[in-house]
Amino acid sequence: MREKNLPLWLELAKQETPKGKLPSYIPLLAQVDPQAIAIAIHHPQASKSEAAGDITLTFPLMSVIKPFLLLYLLETMGFEQVFRLVDRLPSQEAFNAIPEGKPRNPMLNSGAIALSSLLASSKILQNWLNHRSNASLYLDQAMLDSVRSVVNRRNLAIADRLQALGLISNPEQALAVYEEICCLRGNVEDLAKIGVLLVDTQRSAYIPIVLEIMTKCGMYAASEEFAQDIGLPSKSSVSGAILSVVPDVAAIACYSPALDAIGNSVGSLFLIHQLVAQS
Ligand code: GLU
Repeated sequence: MREKNLPLWLELAKQETPKGKLPSYIPLLAQVDPQAIAIAIHHPQASKSEAAGDITLTFPLMSVIKPFLLLYLLETMGFEQVFRLVDRLPSQEAFNAIPEGKPRNPMLNSGAIALSSLLASSKILQNWLNHRSNASLYLDQAMLDSVRSVVNRRNLAIADRLQALGLISNPEQALAVYEEICCLRGNVEDLAKIGVLLVDTQRSAYIPIVLEIMTKCGMYAASEEFAQDIGLPSKSSVSGAILSVVPDVAAIACYSPALDAIGNSVGSLFLIHQLVAQS
């Protein structure tokens, strides 16, 4: 990548954020500063990192945790156990659609809730990620209470359907763990640090699998277009975070909470477009 002007790009990205809206279905997410913005880029091979903006500001990972749930389960349980519960296919469905059969991929809520049934508690994933990446993720109890203060009927229906399909046996437990892992919290540096676990494609045979699923399914309904335009394995979340991986080169973590109509962060998308355009 050529010389970057991160502070200037952050200012330009900030000017874009009024085009987006804060989500409202999780009360605490509606109360954050819509102008907050931060980026961290870690290049593990070069032992180099860069960051700019509100880098100490923390946020809940929400759906950005999904690739890491997948990575953890693949590395600790293997391919068979994971892909018995979920496919690895692109999907035109909404991220919170109720599945007709086996969930199409682990980036959908249905796929992630199915996989959460394999995790005894969010603490296991939190510790695994922190130990391996030197991040400082923690469970945001206030956010978890906020998530649970409004009944999420879609996720409840997904968990019940997964049980009816014979994929999980304890929907309450799967949903509880799913909600907890979504409420793991950190700043952009933490997200870039865990992102580094996905950078070295030779480290584990599972990494190319996770990256392929992120490329096909990581950006909600914009996944196909984003894959064509940007081509970086990425995952976005309702909290406004986006993690992009430049395979074998870098992990890019962005945060800006206002979302476009599809549900992707306006400011984070702007920053990733800038980086790719300048590289
Ligand atoms: N916990 C959120 C939900 O299930 C995560 C959504 C997201 O980030 O896409 O609605």
